[in-house]
Amino acid sequence: MIKPAPLFAALALLVALPALAAPMAGKPDKALLAAATAEAPALTATLERLVNIETGTGDAEGMAAMATLLETELKASGASVERVPATNGVAGDIIVARLSGRGKGRLMLLAHMDTVYQRGALARAPFRIADEADGKRAYGPGIADDKGGVAVILHALRLVRPRDYRSLTIVINTDEERGSTGSSAQITELARGQDAVLSFEPTIMPEMLLRATSGIAGVNITITGKASHAGAAPELGINALTEAAAIIARTTDLDQGPGKLRFNWTMLEQPRAVRNIVPEKVILGGDLRYTSAADFEAFKAEFARRTATPSIAGAQVTVSIEPGRPAFSATPAGDALIARAKAIYASLGHTLTVVPLSGGGTDAGYAALAGVPVIEAMGLPGFGYHSGAAEYVHLDAVPRRLYLAAEMIRQLGR
Ligand SMILES: [Zn+2]
Repeated sequence: MIKPAPLFAALALLVALPALAAPMAGKPDKALLAAATAEAPALTATLERLVNIETGTGDAEGMAAMATLLETELKASGASVERVPATNGVAGDIIVARLSGRGKGRLMLLAHMDTVYQRGALARAPFRIADEADGKRAYGPGIADDKGGVAVILHALRLVRPRDYRSLTIVINTDEERGSTGSSAQITELARGQDAVLSFEPTIMPEMLLRATSGIAGVNITITGKASHAGAAPELGINALTEAAAIIARTTDLDQGPGKLRFNWTMLEQPRAVRNIVPEKVILGGDLRYTSAADFEAFKAEFARRTATPSIAGAQVTVSIEPGRPAFSATPAGDALIARAKAIYASLGHTLTVVPLSGGGTDAGYAALAGVPVIEAMGLPGFGYHSGAAEYVHLDAVPRRLYLAAEMIRQLGR
């Protein structure tokens, strides 16, 4: 055999790496589309069952009931199911299900079972289906974020065959809505060595994919002054509240505006506040969203510089910046996943737009820490997440969302 020229060797390498291969434009697989369409009513029935188990983050009873449902469903699809207890005192078990097949690609499918709604939300906003001007909608707490994503995974598994993948690892955690402190390390670890991670957070209508999500951090400052009578001897005190105001004034312009680093003061706590006493202690809290690790480091340095010297002599200022979710930004391999998803949608005559940056953070950031390509927003299109009564998904989109998920698995996995 002739030794291949370097270009051909490079092309062969591209073909060998499923996540990097160029997407093929073309016609949809009619059989798969028919199967996805036939599967849609079953997905709607699953949505109802998922919504009817309340799973607000921290609800141990709800998580246990949901884990049982998911374990049963995943085992019925041939998966082996492991329950990994969440860490850091978080309620519930992370469901880790595994399927092995005869294809080439190792893929991870990621979603979360918890919602922002505490027990009782379901009674106020029960599951219902309604015909609206824009089509059929299904309503319920957490139905878009992220029970729709869980449902797409469960039903996409029924559309793929063992030849479509080498391995599928399904990961469903219980604390995404509170920063995934009990599951982030496990998500990163499980993502290691995968050829791609498909994350099933919801999208909106018109449908989109997230190319990047913000990193999140909490900024906390404790200002300690000295108490004194506010009327009789204010000059003997050190006013922590005045110092707090000075710090706010010195740091507000660190916010860089839409699409860039966002920083906003959001909390002020004043223990033992009394009107006629010079305040001795104030705690400030701020919300930081950043787009890259470098931005985060630059912010920390500038913030330290601006708060190093108090405006009022004697005031003590202690700064702590607590990192939350890391920033996620698509790598070239992640962009290839996006291009592939767009091509699949185009074959159906539909469009996926790409959002350059979302101010919200998701578990995609933790998966991406493993250095593998990640695609985000493979769940159902909907609206009203985190709002209560009005959360819904578009049922008319279910066949194409199922098709997208199954076809991504097939193309990346074979
Ligand atoms: Zn979510």
